[in-house]
Formats: sequence, C-alpha cells, structure tokens
Amino acid sequence: MNTFEQALQQELSQLKEGKNHRFLKSPPGKELLDVSSNDYLGLRDLPHLQKEFFEKHPDISLFPFSASSSRLLTGNHKEYLKTEELLATLFQREAALILNSGYHANTGILSALCHKDDLIIADKMVHASLIDGFRLASCDFVRFKHQDFKHLENLLQRHASTHKCIYVVTESIFSMDGDTTDLQALLALKKKYGFILYLDEAHAIGVRGDKGLGCAEEAQCLQAVDLIVGTFGKALASQGAYLICNQIVKDFLVNKMRSLIFTTGLPPVNVAWTYFILKQLSDFQNRRNHLQQITQNLRNELTKFSNFAVPGDSHIVPVVVGSNEQAENLSGYLQSKGIYALPIRHPTVPKGTARVRFTLHAGMEESQINLLIEALKAYEAGLE
Ligand code: PMP
Repeated sequence: MNTFEQALQQELSQLKEGKNHRFLKSPPGKELLDVSSNDYLGLRDLPHLQKEFFEKHPDISLFPFSASSSRLLTGNHKEYLKTEELLATLFQREAALILNSGYHANTGILSALCHKDDLIIADKMVHASLIDGFRLASCDFVRFKHQDFKHLENLLQRHASTHKCIYVVTESIFSMDGDTTDLQALLALKKKYGFILYLDEAHAIGVRGDKGLGCAEEAQCLQAVDLIVGTFGKALASQGAYLICNQIVKDFLVNKMRSLIFTTGLPPVNVAWTYFILKQLSDFQNRRNHLQQITQNLRNELTKFSNFAVPGDSHIVPVVVGSNEQAENLSGYLQSKGIYALPIRHPTVPKGTARVRFTLHAGMEESQINLLIEALKAYEAGLE
C-alpha cells in the first residue's frame, strides 16, 4: 500500500470503529421482506405492468437505451417533450422540466437561480442533495430547526430587508423522521413574507393526493408552491426527476442549470416508462389507500408495545434505537427473521438517534406487517 492508500485505509478503519462503515450490498432476495427500498407503490416488480409497457411499444428501437448527448444537443427525444407536457397538465401549471435524478435537480436548480444577494433558508433536516445544492449556490444559506416555523419566521424577519430574494426550502415528507410538513402553515408565512417556496416531494409523489401528485395536491396548493421537485426513482418505479414551475423559470434553467446542460439526458426508453406510469398514476388510489391502512396499523401497534421512539406519521416508519451499534443489532436480528430493514446511523442522523427505518410498500400484505410487529416485539422482549 502506498502512502495515499494508507491514508484512505486509516479513515476507513475509523469508520469501521464508529460502526458507520458503508459498503455496496447485494439487493435482498425474494426470501426477505423488503422494507428498505423506496418502491412505495409496489410497482417495480409487477410483470403485467412491464408486459403492458412492451406491448404498447412493440418497436422498441424507437426508444433508444441512450440519449447519446445532453438534452441541449441532440438528446431531447420527443418522449421528454410528451412527458413534460403531461406533467404540466397533471399539476395544472405552466411548465415542467425533467432532470436526470433528484440529486441533479436539487444540486442544480437553486445553484442556477440564486444570486449572491439572495438567501436560502432551509429546514435543518433537508436531504443531502439539497445541501450540496446550497453549497454550489453563490448566496448564503441558513437553517431553521426541523419543522419549527416560529424559528423560520424569526429568520424571515431578521433577513427580509437585507436580501433581494429569499428561498425557503423544505420537504413534504422527511425521509429520516417520516413526518409531514404543514403546507398551509408554510403558505401563510409565504403570504406574509413573500418568499419563493421550494418543496421536495421525493417521498410523497405517487403516495399522497387523490391523483398521487403529492402533498401539495393533498393540501390543494399546487398553484401556490413556486417550485415543486420530485423524483421518479421511488414510488414511480422509474428513474429521473421533475421540476414543476412557471415557464420563465424553466426557460432560465434551460440556459443556466449546469446539471441539466452538461450531462447526457436520461435514456428515452426510461422516459417512455415514466410517461406510461404517470399516465395511470391517478388509477393507483387503491394502492395509496392500502399503504395508508398498513401504515396506520403498524404505527398503532408500535405505540402499544414499543419502548423506542417512532417519530412521524407517514409510510416511512423509523424505530429510533440510539447508537449505531444498537441499530445494526436490530437490523441483523430482523434479517435473521426474514425482514430486510437497514440501519440508518450517525452521521446520517444526529448522534444517539440511530434507527432502523421501515419503508412500507403498497404491495405488502397485512400478514407481512404482522410478521414485522411480532419480530419487533420479540426483539424488545429479549432486551428486557
Ligand atoms: N430528495 C430527497 C428528499 C430524497 O430523499 C432523495 C433520495 N433519497 C433525493 C432527493 C434524490 O433523488 P434521486 O434518488 O432521484 O437522486
């Protein structure tokens, strides 16, 4: 090992000691119950859906597996335009822009839009992709305590007169605590202070709202949220992301957004699949209802017997156990019982709040929720 590699080895050893070493795992086999992936509507493995897609597209050669260039060059296949039109129609907004991933969206949008005399104010627990975007932006950013709108208002009062434009950034459902943002309360502040609202609906698209458009649809405020971002990589069983916005914002981003301009577009075949799913999104209401139902059952049961904190109110159900080691232990125990639930450790979450997070899927049956409950009961009994 040369000195360069030795230095890397040392850092890796420290991660191992702190029980937060990461490695690339094989996905769980069918024998394990998957409560770790983000396939919230359970659409990913439905053979009839895939068959129907290929029947609808018999000449697959029309849908290349590569865009072969940036959308700004030759990569802007007609599937993009069709899907963006569909998105704008569904959300009843002027425009939509498809991006390669939620990560590309969150790193690229604000870093393009913000100028140095602007300010970003974000919830303390927003996703790493957003934080990377703030770091790339040429303006300052400050954070308000998680879901604490009093703190947000204090910051708005303090900064309103000193910055040209303020962007408030949050998520509708938070991935670590599984809690839901009160959008009406946020919009009341927006009315008072006139900021630009950026809402990441990564964990809500497909899952919430009558048409599955997310929490902004559910709260009937699709028009009021300036910038709505979501990913196709979770409930929609695809890949890529979208921004819903006004036309002027889209035109600006097409000119300025580096993570759109300087990267190869998504494969057209993938965009066609996204279109196919989006077209029937409103028909998955039974799946959304079932997901709500099993979420309620699991959360109710956990409050009855568990000594662990179970924050949030959504289909993302975290069981907070404390140290990284405890989270690994619980995850290992569950795996021995046929349940694939991964630990979320510090530094991804604050120290002492390591957890095992259950992401529920609409394809899960009640009996599988019961298996989960019984395994957790047995684990907690063993700790006594
Ligand atoms: N935003 C949030 C809130 C997320 O949780 C994630 C992914 N975990 C992303 C954005 C990134 O989305 P993608 O996987 O499409 O890059």
